[in-house]
Amino acid sequence: MKLHLNCILKISYNCILGYLMKDSRKIYKFIRAHIGSTQKAYLSKAVFDFSNKPFVYKKNEKENNNFPADFEGGLCISADFEMAWAFRYSKRKVDPLKMANKERENIPVLLKLFAKYNIPITWATVGHLMLESCNKGDHNWMHRIPYFDDHWRFSSGDWFDDDPYSNYQKDSAWYAPDLMELILKSDVKHEIGCHTFSHIDCSYKNCPPQVLDDELTAWKKAASKWGVELNSFVFPGGTAGNYEILKKHNVKIYRRNMNFDLAYPIIDQYGLLFLPSTSSFGKSYNWSADYYIYRYKKMIDKAIKTKTIAHIWFHPSIDSWTISEVMPSVLIYAADLREAGKLWIGTMNSMANLLGN
Ligand SMILES: [Zn+2]
Ligand SMILES: [Zn+2]
Repeated sequence: MKLHLNCILKISYNCILGYLMKDSRKIYKFIRAHIGSTQKAYLSKAVFDFSNKPFVYKKNEKENNNFPADFEGGLCISADFEMAWAFRYSKRKVDPLKMANKERENIPVLLKLFAKYNIPITWATVGHLMLESCNKGDHNWMHRIPYFDDHWRFSSGDWFDDDPYSNYQKDSAWYAPDLMELILKSDVKHEIGCHTFSHIDCSYKNCPPQVLDDELTAWKKAASKWGVELNSFVFPGGTAGNYEILKKHNVKIYRRNMNFDLAYPIIDQYGLLFLPSTSSFGKSYNWSADYYIYRYKKMIDKAIKTKTIAHIWFHPSIDSWTISEVMPSVLIYAADLREAGKLWIGTMNSMANLLGN
């Protein structure tokens, strides 16, 4: 009888554990949605410190990571260069112009920092920022995304209603050729990646294919004036979808959120490479600089241990504290590992090139 009971208990335990593991991300998200920011900070810390985080992609046996034999693991950093465009339809109460100003203030500082440690990054750029000016009617040829209420809310007017249809001297939150120039003339060979032309939702649910198609055409047109090609792509607001259109425009590699944090670039069903986001820079919680640094170091160390890529991204409008107190220590740590021959550091495109894409 006792054996029987033990058996039942064991089976029940395994069932519950299996259920929790299978739906752990859903449960985690559900809990996060129902607690305050202090509890969120504790929860996030507990999960990071006591689980197997950062989670590594489990490849199937036939899969090959295609890295050169001596590849030790890598670090890729990308920044979503978007200025006011990203915040127009945000449900968070943020002022797009204020965010753009912060981004303007930060970018020269960030460029100096990356130059100091010789770390090239991918600037996932909103195409409109590459323009010096535009006129009313210039974007009329582009198909418009239908209204939606989802990650963002776009429920009235025209998608380009906030476009000042002027120039960067007058409206520097909507155009940034001066910052483009700074990035391109940096001593470090940064990459200009694509973050759509006007920061649209790319999901299948909200974005008809023609809309993304036009966005990428407009992006390429703006980029061609800078001698920049479309290679790497970052979905705005994590709104992944319309991969066929990325393929059509010869995107080589994209970044997206997945259920795991570390992987080598994986080939998707369309033959495109993608890298999962591992984490982002930014003061989300009131943790110490040391604790933040510890987390990023752990991600890099695990990438080396598992021969994967840690892909850390950020909004260039991030808080100054992260830029001055956290990022330098992480960058120097990574640069030292690279000098020791233990870590590859590069842009998304150079990662794709390394794999022969
Ligand atoms: Zn415009
Ligand atoms: Zn964005």
